[in-house]
Formats: sequence, C-alpha cells, structure tokens
Amino acid sequence: MIHKFDVVIVGAGGAGLRAAVEVPKDHTCAVISKVFPTRSHTGTAQGGVCAALSNEEDDSWLDHAFDTVKGSDYLGDQDAIEIMCQDAPRAIIELEHMGMPFSRTKEGKIAQRKFGGHTKLENPNDPNSKRIPVNRACYSADRTGHVMLQTLYENCVKNNVNFYSEYFLTDLIIEDGICKGVTAIDMATSEIHVFHAKAVMFATGGYGRAFRITSNAHVGTGDGCALVYKAGLPLEDMEFYQFHPTGLWRLGILVSEAARGEGGILRNNANERFMEVYAPTVKDLAPRDMVSRAIISEIRAGRGILGSDGTYYINLDLTHLGKKVIDEKIPEITGFARTYLGVEPTKECVPIQPTAHYAMGGIPTNYDTEVFSDNKGTKVNGFYAAGECACVSVHGGNRLGTNSLLDIVVFGRRGGKKISQFLKTAEYTEFTGDPTERTRQQIDSLLNLSGGENISNIRKDLQQNMMDKCGIFRNEKDLAENKEILKQLRQRYQNITVQDKSKVFNTDLMEAIELGNLIDIAESINESALNRQESRGAHTREDFPNRDDAQWMKHTFITKADSGELKIDYKPVVKTRFEPMERKY
Ligand SMILES: Cc1cc2nc3c(=O)[nH]c(=O)nc-3n(C[C@H](O)[C@H](O)[C@H](O)COP(=O)(O)OP(=O)(O)OC[C@H]3O[C@@H](n4cnc5c(N)ncnc54)[C@H](O)[C@@H]3O)c2cc1C
Repeated sequence: MIHKFDVVIVGAGGAGLRAAVEVPKDHTCAVISKVFPTRSHTGTAQGGVCAALSNEEDDSWLDHAFDTVKGSDYLGDQDAIEIMCQDAPRAIIELEHMGMPFSRTKEGKIAQRKFGGHTKLENPNDPNSKRIPVNRACYSADRTGHVMLQTLYENCVKNNVNFYSEYFLTDLIIEDGICKGVTAIDMATSEIHVFHAKAVMFATGGYGRAFRITSNAHVGTGDGCALVYKAGLPLEDMEFYQFHPTGLWRLGILVSEAARGEGGILRNNANERFMEVYAPTVKDLAPRDMVSRAIISEIRAGRGILGSDGTYYINLDLTHLGKKVIDEKIPEITGFARTYLGVEPTKECVPIQPTAHYAMGGIPTNYDTEVFSDNKGTKVNGFYAAGECACVSVHGGNRLGTNSLLDIVVFGRRGGKKISQFLKTAEYTEFTGDPTERTRQQIDSLLNLSGGENISNIRKDLQQNMMDKCGIFRNEKDLAENKEILKQLRQRYQNITVQDKSKVFNTDLMEAIELGNLIDIAESINESALNRQESRGAHTREDFPNRDDAQWMKHTFITKADSGELKIDYKPVVKTRFEPMERKY
C-alpha cells in the first residue's frame, strides 16, 4: 500500500511529537511508531527538563550554556548549545501552556531541583569564585517524561496528526540525494507500506539495547541510525555513549539523578562518601561520566559491596531524606527499588551500578535538524533528524542530566519549523525503483535462513561484549578483540532461524531485524572508539588517559561503504565564547 503525506515523521517520542505539533494544519503529516506513541521511551524519563527560569534562585542561560559546554568536555558545538540554552525558558513555558502539569513551588511557580553538572558561581561578581549546584531542572515529581509525552500526544491529536502505531520502519528511500519517503511493515499483518513524502524526519530514539545493563526500553535498538548507516551516510561521534551512574543493581532500571538532586549520597563498602574525593566541590552531583568512572574505580579498588551472585555494587543512600521527600519527590524510583530489589529506601541503601543510558552520537544534523551527508555540511534534500537519534551536537562527549528532554522539545520544534518552510516550495519526487523491494528482500531472506542460530543468544553475546570491551573503560586490546567478535556475530547472524513464519504480529521477525540493526550500531560505536586515541567525556581509553585537544578536538564521522569498508572523517568543533579548560568539579 502506498500513502502520500507532505511530512512523515518516524518516532513518536518527545522529538517526533514536538515536530508534528509544529507542522501547519494545511499540510498532511503522519507519525509512524513501532510502539503506541505514549509508550515511547520519553515516557520513562523521570528527573526533569532544565531551563534557567530562576524560579528558586538566580540563574542565567549563559551559566546553563557554560555547564553544557564543560559537561560535553568541549566537544559540543557551542552555537547549537547557545541556541538550546537561550530557548529553554520559552520552551518550558510553552509546555506549560500546552497543558503539562509541572510540580510547583509554594508560590505556584514551576518548581526546580538540582541535577548533576548544573552550576552557578557562588559569588556572581567574582568569576573566580567556586561553582555550586543550582536548581535548574523543572519536573513533575519523578514522572517528567511521562507527562511531557502525554501532553504532546494530546496536542498532536488536537492538530489531526495521522498516527501509524505498531508500524515498523524498514527502509529509508533516498535516490539521487533526495529523500523520498520510507517503507514500514504493519506489525499486525506484516503488510509492507510505502510512505511517499516531501519531507522525512527521523526521531527514532537511542540504542541502549546494544549493551547488557541498560536503562533503555526494549525498543531502543537504534533502527533509524542503522538505516542511515546502511544507506552509506555518516554517523557522528558514535564512541560517546553515556553510562548513567545509578541503575538498579543487575537490572539497569534507572534510579534518576533526581535522587541525588534531592540529597542522595553514594557510599562504598566502608560507608564512605567517595565522591568527595573525585569531585570535591559538587560531589555526588558531578556529571555522569565522572560518577560512573568513580563507581567502577571504587569497585576495582575492592571497595564495592559483594552481592549474592558474586558481582559488586555501590550503595545509594536516601535514608536521611525522610519519608515525605521520598514519597512526594521521588515516589516512582523508590517504588522500583521496593518492587525489583525488595529494598525499603526509607530505611536501607539502594544497591546500584552504572547502566547504559544515552547516545550522544547519532545522525549528523545542523541546528535546524537538516541531515548532513558528509563532514563538509552537504545536506540530504528533504531529510531531517531530531532527538536522541540525532547528533546536533549539543551534548558533545557527555550529556548533562535533563538536557535531553530539553533537546527534544527545542530541536523537535526547530525541525518542525524548518520543514514547514521547506514545504512552501517542495514537491513530491517520483521513485525511480520499486520502493518495497529492499524490505521484501530483507523479509524473504530472513525467513528463509535456516542455520539454527538463536536470535537471543547472538543478542546476549553482543550486549555482554559491548559491556565488557566497549563500556565505561576501554583500551586498544579489548576494542580490537571486540571488532573480531562483532564480525563473528555478523556471520552467526547469517545462520539464524526465524522460528515464527506467520504474518500476524511476527515479533520473532522484528527481533531479527532489530538484531541486524544492533550489530551495525555496535560496529560503528566500537570502530569510532578504537579510532579515538584520547579520553574525553564518556569515552575513556585506559591506554590514552588524557584529553588531547591538539589532536582530537573534532567530531568523528563514520561511514560504511557497500563493500563493507569502514571510513572515518572529521569535522571541527564549533566554538563561540567558551575557551576549553580542564574539566574539574
Ligand atoms: C529511563 C530513562 C530516564 C530518563 N530521564 C531523563 C530525564 O529525566 N531528563 C532528560 O532530559 N532525559 C532523560 N532521559 C533521556 C530522554 O528521555 C531521551 O533521550 C529522550 O526522551 C529521547 O526522545 P526521542 O523523542 O528522541 O526518542 P524516544 O522517546 O526514544 O522515541 C523513539 C520513537 O521512535 C520509534 N521507533 C524507533 N524505531 C522504530 C522503527 N523501527 N519503526 C517505527 N518506529 C520506531 C519508537 O516507537 C518511538 O516512538 C531518560 C532516558 C531514560 C531511558
């Protein structure tokens, strides 16, 4: 079946829905999602969305921008960061006016809390005074993403956006440098649908499922990024993958940084507050890359706590916060600790370990979400990307907490506006070939494989190796080994058997496609990590422990040729007003 829409947005998380809201009513717009829109991963975001609103204390967008640049370890593009931080207060008020129910201060203003890496000068008149944590994160208890997603969905329904839920994106159709649409499978029937469009936006989210311990939903398999990579287009800064310090031990389910924002403390087996050593000024509220490394360093030094299964964890102590704060400010995450670990957070520490959380890298775009086909800024006509799947790059080497919910609403809106401009003159361009052909071939070949390899075994091996060899600490030996392992996994993938041959909700087939995508994503992360011989942000090379601005203050662009050959190019970092300095907290 062929559909025609002026705009097709793939992904119904915050980025996709915010873009859809922006498309003018005289244009047709479809949103495709492999899950029901409000089940997108944005709905699980807990802690907050930041903006220098100054509701609880004085703050400024410039401080926010400074923190974001420093948090990115100077890899973020400063022009884009300035746009995002300057636009943040407007974006929050806009969400409020759309109906998003924020938590409130006693005076009825939007309440704000502290989050890692968000600071201001202790003495605003003295640029050399120390920087102290600031209340910048707006929140709705610990269900911020949930209410944001519901609000945006309601606004899309109001604007007559056409939803195709449980449609699985399988192909991106670019011919002669023009993006003409996408192909997707209706999961209920396995029927192939072509979406012919003047403009396509990818808002397909992240790829935490490339790692074994992750906070990401099962859908986070990087399908959009993988299709871009398969199309021979570049992916940017894939080596920068963020581990969040506090996932529930062994499960990875997130315990939001809000827990530390409200005063939670990390403790080792001697009950020491070890973050005092690693980040003396901001302590437990240091950025995520630093806290994750500190946790692993404590465990490696024999100061972890031995769990029942022989693995180690660290304690998150919330007991001193009191029942009122726990029940009112962080009810959901403390509920997870009770349900999944049987721990009572008002009386006992919560066992945690770092969990794969957020992709700083992704599809390269400018700050109007237009996708680049190379490191020189050439655009793919009619193709846009926003949200976690995109790399603008506002997060550089390491994202600060609450900056992603901000990123998706700021750049989702900018993308929607840019597309609206484009639609004024854009036309439909006819397909030169059969737009269903690649999808049909892919499905047929997957269903015909009969090597007997089990899909979930290959996925587990991939996730474990990415965790062990391409995780928080990396080195050349492990990464080179992992490269070979990934090649073997790709061969094993050619020998899988998709057990279910039926057409109705064939989740076995979907998982097979997702696994193929995960292998591509893992390859691009590992190769980019092997190539970058320095430590910056979330990318820590034990064999190159220092940041090397002279050689490496540049973005990685990785592409894969049809022959399978991988190629790496670079793009300079955009600097406006913030000079690189040592990253101490
Ligand atoms: C547990 C958790 C807590 C978080 N808390 C915070 C927080 O407090 N503050 C903050 O700033 N950030 C937080 N983040 C990060 C932030 O929530 C995400 O980065 C952001 O919501 C991503 O939004 P998105 O719109 O880009 O993608 P998503 O919300 O992930 O949506 C992706 C969409 O793409 C669709 N899709 C993907 N593949 C396909 C396919 N093949 N076919 C069809 N559709 C497809 C999905 O169905 C989905 O609709 C958190 C993340 C997690 C995992």
